[in-house]
Amino acid sequence: MTAPVLRVAHLYPRLMNIYGDRGNIMCLRHRCEARGIGFELTELGMGESFHGDAYDLVFAGGAQDREQRGVAYDLLATKAAALRAAVEDGVALLAVCGAYQLFGRFYRDASGAELPGAGVFDLSTEHPGVDAKRCIGNIICEWQPAGRRSRPEALPAAIVTIVGFENHGGRTRLGPGARPFARVRHGFGNNGEDGSEGAVYRNAIGTYVHGSLLPKNPVLADAVLAAALERRYGAIELTPIDDRAELRAHAAALRLR
Ligand code: GLN
Repeated sequence: MTAPVLRVAHLYPRLMNIYGDRGNIMCLRHRCEARGIGFELTELGMGESFHGDAYDLVFAGGAQDREQRGVAYDLLATKAAALRAAVEDGVALLAVCGAYQLFGRFYRDASGAELPGAGVFDLSTEHPGVDAKRCIGNIICEWQPAGRRSRPEALPAAIVTIVGFENHGGRTRLGPGARPFARVRHGFGNNGEDGSEGAVYRNAIGTYVHGSLLPKNPVLADAVLAAALERRYGAIELTPIDDRAELRAHAAALRLR
């Protein structure tokens, strides 16, 4: 059997990449290469269309309102419909902060302008204005991994701690079609009020956690990787790799608050 290959689309890597979000891509590459899994990266920027069959995983990172303004309209014109279809078809997707906001229904930015969202997640985000308190600092939350269709017995049964850093003005509220990704133990998450962090729909995860997220949360990194590969190859057993540095980073982040 030929080795599986993870095909990743990184959306707007130049415009949407703050607080080390690109580290998520480096982490996925490392976790594939350490296991003999191929890794193919395609960067898609302004004006470039997205084709769902060409990818197993879609990633997009955070950005300030200024960059989000241009990206929102390009996303709608060149990628949103195909992205929604791919998510319905089970593609894995990870969207951080600014991208998470733009993958909802709309983002009302700090100036009051309403930017259209790609509609991947049933949620909306409103920024109360430039004078409002930002949701900023280290964040710790608890993630309950959802069942994978084919191998529910392979799930980590326990709650998994997620650590990282958040910095956003926008407050996100989920609609009935999205469920929270995690519960906030320390920090703000979606809105600083209801204890929810991020959103999940099928194999798509949206989150406010930068940091970058995946390198110091290796259980989540492998869950994203497994979900991405499963759509094309069926369930694949990911062999354990040396995570001592990752787990030390995770433990250090837990002490940061
Ligand atoms: N501009 C958005 C906000 O402040 C997102 C910021 C980010 O991606 N860190 O809410």
